[in-house]
Amino acid sequence: MTTSPDLTTSAALFARATRVTPGGVNSPVRAMGSVGRTHPPFIVSGEGSRIVDADGNSYVDWVQSWGALPLGHADADVVAAITRAAGLGSSFGAPTPAEVELAELIVDAVPCAELARFTSSGTEATMSALRVARAATGRDAFITFDGTYHGHADPFLAAGGSGLATLGIPSSPGVPAATAELTLLATYNDLQSVRDLAEASAAGGREIAAIFVEPVAANMGVVEPAPGFLEGLRAIADEIGALLVFDEVITGFRLGWGGAQVRYGVTPDLATFGKIIGGGLPVGAFVGRRDLMSLVAPSGSVYQAGTLSGNPLAMAAGLAQLNALRERDAYTVLEEQGARLEATIARAADDAGAGSTTAVSRVGSLVTLFHLGVEQHLAPQNFTEAKQLDTARFAATHADLLSAGQYLPASQFEALFASTTHDAQMLEQLGDALRVALAQPVEVA
Ligand SMILES: *Cc1c(COP(=O)(O)O)cnc(C)c1O
Repeated sequence: MTTSPDLTTSAALFARATRVTPGGVNSPVRAMGSVGRTHPPFIVSGEGSRIVDADGNSYVDWVQSWGALPLGHADADVVAAITRAAGLGSSFGAPTPAEVELAELIVDAVPCAELARFTSSGTEATMSALRVARAATGRDAFITFDGTYHGHADPFLAAGGSGLATLGIPSSPGVPAATAELTLLATYNDLQSVRDLAEASAAGGREIAAIFVEPVAANMGVVEPAPGFLEGLRAIADEIGALLVFDEVITGFRLGWGGAQVRYGVTPDLATFGKIIGGGLPVGAFVGRRDLMSLVAPSGSVYQAGTLSGNPLAMAAGLAQLNALRERDAYTVLEEQGARLEATIARAADDAGAGSTTAVSRVGSLVTLFHLGVEQHLAPQNFTEAKQLDTARFAATHADLLSAGQYLPASQFEALFASTTHDAQMLEQLGDALRVALAQPVEVA
């Protein structure tokens, strides 16, 4: 006899999920294990900046699908576009008009983009951009930065070797050492670390194909590029004959029309996109100079493909969201929303007496409250500093906020994403909840 499915509580859903899915989730951070939850809320609906879970709890959502939804959930224009597209057929595995329109929009808006190729995720976009960079330069090794995230393809799952070693080591079982050793980990905001690695690697017979960077690091908490950092990377890449690749999967069309490369005035050779350009549907894109992108099949011989790439629903959703962002002057609003969120968090921390043991970092609508654990009042500039953070304090704060109906990323190393739909009352509620949470002593387990 089969038991009747219980879809009514998050606890029951998680119990069922763990029987059929590793850890009960389809992406690790969602399990909320690191913040001590026995199960995560299962979300059944969202509207604007409110989400509702299977237990009927309503939350203010500061995650917004990890940044994919700057206009909030179920935006009327985006829903209408997806509905219209779905009625015309969900996938053909053939060219469709919408992918041309979205590619034109991206090529028009993004300085480095002369050609664009769509994928179904950011991971595919970064792994494909790396393949192009390696093919274009005839080199295998590349540089990226400790604490940045470029998706879960093998070459990006590497950690720095110890001491003076340049060779990366696998950061996950299943990644071959031979793959990871071609990944060299530099220190964010430290140009000398990049120069040193490039030099040591070349001396060992391995020239650098590419420097991969999040132009604003948003996966170790928000870390802004120091003045001159991105310009310095551009110069080093040119000097050593490597390509500069901006991973704009988070920053693209969030920090402004065209992304971080417009905001900071530094043009890479290749760039990757995702999240926002799909309006909440699975999407990615890699873009860049015509001569480089022309290496991609079928115009060139670098193989890259996807059954669902350029999917009509994803293209329709992306187009609707990007057009709405432009037409509604959303970037001015997002900047203001980010500033309000930053001010709310900073004031709450001060009021709770935690002003000197926390720091708030913001770029545009990306905001992180760093729990420093010590009195220093300076936000981390790289991952070595970010790793010192007080994650026990973070977990306690996260739990208190969730109980108060504030849904935040379940990791100290992620950003809060302000949308155009967070209102004054939501900010006030967050401030109130944070004031209470930060004033609590943390119980040491
Ligand atoms: C989310 C993210 C990715 C991976 O995108 P997926 O769609 O999750 O595969 C890559 N790079 C950055 C900077 C990201 O934030």
